[in-house]
Amino acid sequence: MAAALDLPLQALRDTVADLRAHVQQLLPDGDVDANQVAANELAWAVACSDAAVATAEWADATGDALASDVAEAAIAEAASAITGRSAIGAIEQTPLLERIAGAYRPLMDLGLSEEQRLLRETFRDFAEREIRPRAAEVHRLNLDIPEDLLRGLAELGTFGLSIPEAYGGSKSEGQGSKDDFETMLIVTEELSRGSLAAGGSLVTRPEILVVALVRGATEEQKRRWLPVIASGEKLVSVAATEPDHGSDIAGITCRAERVGDGWLVNGAKLWSTFAGRAEIMMLLARTADAGHRGLSLFVVEKPAFSGHQFTFRQPGGGWLEGRAIPTIGYRGMHTFELSFDNFHLPGDALVGSEEWLNRGFYLQMESFAMGRLQTAGRAVGVMQAALEDALAYASQRIVFGKPIARFGLPRTMLGRMIVQVATARRLSYRAARLLAEGQGAGQIEASLAKLYASRMAEQVTRNAMQIHGGMGYAEETNVSRYFVDARVLSIFEGAEEVLALRVIAKSLLASG
Ligand SMILES: Cc1cc2nc3c(=O)[nH]c(=O)nc-3n(C[C@H](O)[C@H](O)[C@H](O)COP(=O)(O)OP(=O)(O)OC[C@H]3O[C@@H](n4cnc5c(N)ncnc54)[C@H](O)[C@@H]3O)c2cc1C
Repeated sequence: MAAALDLPLQALRDTVADLRAHVQQLLPDGDVDANQVAANELAWAVACSDAAVATAEWADATGDALASDVAEAAIAEAASAITGRSAIGAIEQTPLLERIAGAYRPLMDLGLSEEQRLLRETFRDFAEREIRPRAAEVHRLNLDIPEDLLRGLAELGTFGLSIPEAYGGSKSEGQGSKDDFETMLIVTEELSRGSLAAGGSLVTRPEILVVALVRGATEEQKRRWLPVIASGEKLVSVAATEPDHGSDIAGITCRAERVGDGWLVNGAKLWSTFAGRAEIMMLLARTADAGHRGLSLFVVEKPAFSGHQFTFRQPGGGWLEGRAIPTIGYRGMHTFELSFDNFHLPGDALVGSEEWLNRGFYLQMESFAMGRLQTAGRAVGVMQAALEDALAYASQRIVFGKPIARFGLPRTMLGRMIVQVATARRLSYRAARLLAEGQGAGQIEASLAKLYASRMAEQVTRNAMQIHGGMGYAEETNVSRYFVDARVLSIFEGAEEVLALRVIAKSLLASG
């Protein structure tokens, strides 16, 4: 580690250790609900500190001067988030943040391999050509994502990133080969930089379902579903959340009952993104009255529907109806409320067959860890887009006789935004590397990355909008879309509070 960062880094680690000991005293039996505020503070302290540490490790490994400045600022930002912001501290930080803003150059490739750089270039190029020019129209008119865009992504292999080669994907297997989730993050970032809703989020659903299938599906099911997902022939949606059960997913009531050698599904789902267009739906349903031990995962095959509403009637009389919920952002894929009425599923729709009957909750949870890492990547992509637009606008727009970027306050703001994007990216890459080690590693780090990056995305897009002044509030300016899109990141894939308390703090307190 660069010697100059040793002391502040150690001080940061000590502060977090003290806080952890204090919270452990307050919550000796690890019940996070006994003092939610304390547990939440602990989760956030670890997130901020880990982000700074990951950034310092990257700066050290690359030996880059700007990265080193970013790491120094990241440590100071983390310390101030944990011990409290002081006016004096803020003033003292200013020269460093201004220096970072002045020296900015794209840092995303720093430390990556040549292969990873090429991969980024390929997806960036696609996003620049195919996604960015259409993203505003899709958002403002709430259109469907253009079919040729979906085809283009499929041709690039976007949907098969985590699918083993043996099943038509690009994930290499066999001796010595390790999972490579950084690839997924790089692709996600670049597509999300083009558009969160019409780009990066298309990767989320296959990533979630594939984890469950690779882990639990029978060989026959893998051969049936994985290749068509990998090729993009069939697109994917996920239906877990219900009107009365979102964070409390274990309580869901949409029921699948065995009828003959198949299943009849009845009940409602809420917030199922892309459920109209997707031909394959991952459905979490109740198969026994036993809390989370009574849930099973199914794959529902259905036709693709365009637009904001659909009804799929089965020859036997069952049906599935969907209506898109109007939302302030995250448009294009459309997010549906669904109603299943005596909807028939064949016996082999049950993922993992009898072996995984009533154990679908565990498959779903494993999948969500991947969804969270992917969401961190989405947040970084949106932030990067907002940062670039803010930097460009601040250097062009003249106020009081000079460009906005030449004033101290916006310049400091830009410096902080650069640090926020870099720290979120480094935390997510670190989680990706740990997840690749397998055997349960990296699960908490993926949640930390999602928690942190989602909040940073809100702050960065907010400040990008601020730097644009009135134009930032205009629908025609991209930053207004980034802002409303980024807002959803702290809500889905584990609401911020639930992630901080029930996933992160709980695990930190349990591990002592
Ligand atoms: C645009 C969009 C797309 C989505 N896409 C999908 C999808 O494709 N598939 C899918 O299955 N779901 C999807 N979701 C659903 C999403 O995952 C849920 O909205 C989320 O899990 C929160 O559930 P909820 O909305 O029921 O909120 P609730 O569970 O009602 O929680 C509301 C709020 O209460 C607070 N809270 C909840 N529990 C606690 C607690 N224990 N302690 C402290 N505070 C708490 C949090 O602030 C939380 O945000 C999507 C949601 C949105 C908005």
